[in-house]
Amino acid sequence: MATAPRGRLQGKNAIITGAAGGIGLETSILFAREGASVLMADISEPALATALAKVKSLAPSSARVETIKCDVSKESDVQAMVESQDSWGGTDIIFNNAGIMHADDADAVDTSDKIWDLTHNINVKGVWYGCKHTVLSLRRHKKTKGSIINTASVVALVGSATPQLAYTASKGAVLALTRELAIVHAREGFRFNALCPAPLNTPLLQDWLGDDQAKRHRREVHFPTGRFGEAIEQANAVVFLASDEASFVNGTDFVVDGGMTKAYVTPE
Ligand code: NAD
Repeated sequence: MATAPRGRLQGKNAIITGAAGGIGLETSILFAREGASVLMADISEPALATALAKVKSLAPSSARVETIKCDVSKESDVQAMVESQDSWGGTDIIFNNAGIMHADDADAVDTSDKIWDLTHNINVKGVWYGCKHTVLSLRRHKKTKGSIINTASVVALVGSATPQLAYTASKGAVLALTRELAIVHAREGFRFNALCPAPLNTPLLQDWLGDDQAKRHRREVHFPTGRFGEAIEQANAVVFLASDEASFVNGTDFVVDGGMTKAYVTPE
């Protein structure tokens, strides 16, 4: 489902967090194929090494693709990650994509403070730190345009009877902070958009669902398409939002969900 590369990100320096798996990995591949220089960031070094090998095998040999270990919940890590691109000419694009959905996340009664704080530290503070240090970098390098894409989720838009309260609240926060930053920085030329994926075939969800067919069906039935999304379908949207083709797209809740959030009764 990858389209032929057209150099849509030629000359751009990009950072992708959560780059070792799922959406982040597919986006790293597409960014490199579209001509970007890519810094892949993740908390897991072994996973990054495997992911880098995959990206290099699929990207043009001339593509600059490097990795950096970064825990996005630590501001010093995020600052070091963004500043490491100063020698590349400064960051043009950041995809703040790293996020977790913890197995012990539950409803209002059963979600612990520990799970709430862990989820918010990664999913919300991690995105905030990425935005903050990218704005500082864009200004430092006197850039007149920049694209920041933050991964939220459809659960920021529609309620779910299968609760993960900390996760849902964290994604609502991502949506709101992205919208505000889009307005605050619009006249500097810095665009902020939120990606809202529906449930996907990635380890984040599929490991959690496992072989439980009932749990799986509970979710699949809400898709007009009858299937979960694929990470590459998100990555294609991220390439568009990152590119100058999206020059007038700012502050959107960019929903890539196969129509799930627009559906009432779905086809049998
Ligand atoms: P994934 O689990 O396949 O990949 C997430 C990556 O983030 C992993 O490589 C992991 O090591 C990394 N990561 C975790 N904590 C980190 C931290 N503190 N610092 C840096 N990296 C960290 O997940 P995915 O499905 O590709 O999800 C990516 C994003 O999409 C997440 O923000 C997730 O919430 C969101 N999302 C996923 C789905 C879905 O169904 N998979 C749906 C909606 C939104």
